[in-house]
Amino acid sequence: METSCRLVVLSGPSGSGKSTIIQRLLKEAPVPLRMSVSATTRPPRPQEIDGIHYHFLTREQFDKRLANREFLEWAEVHKSGYLYGTLKSELTRIWTDGKWALVEVDVEGARSIMREYPEAVSIFLTASSMAEFESRLRSRGTETEGVIQRRLQTAAEELKLADSYRHRVVNDDLDRAVREICDLLGACAAR
Ligand code: 5GP
Repeated sequence: METSCRLVVLSGPSGSGKSTIIQRLLKEAPVPLRMSVSATTRPPRPQEIDGIHYHFLTREQFDKRLANREFLEWAEVHKSGYLYGTLKSELTRIWTDGKWALVEVDVEGARSIMREYPEAVSIFLTASSMAEFESRLRSRGTETEGVIQRRLQTAAEELKLADSYRHRVVNDDLDRAVREICDLLGACAAR
């Protein structure tokens, strides 16, 4: 499919520095990257804005969109009980505008997307070590111990799945990691 390469799928355990990398990529990537806004049934955190950070939906609204086949993929993430999904309309919106879509999803979601778009640029981001990871997660100070433990467990499971991604990038040095991803995207655009 012609647009496949204009799709970037990014995953990585919480604490792998994903959000910082994403902010940098949206500004610095050598291709016009736009964030695909996911839908979720999770309640908004303070500062989060509907339609910008997520499309915040009730379970009923989510189920209705599922029934209407509006999702490219969806998953219950971190065994949280909350559903997250990529709306097909987000990719259409971005591609129609001639841009590249950046989708940040868990490994389950990434797997579904890679099946549908085998040419997508899939990147798995890792922190340098599990200890580093835990410390980043804790330093955010927004999660309860139970949530942290669950996320660490998910992270360990996710790490095992990193091999299914086309690229793996270690975020031990932010500038280097951003540069590495920019180089990947540049190479893809030149193809
Ligand atoms: P948070 O609740 O911290 O905003 O997000 C938790 C995780 O949900 C993210 O790190 C990401 O891996 C996953 N996620 C966000 N949006 C989607 C989506 O649309 N689909 C899937 N499968 N996972 C998502």
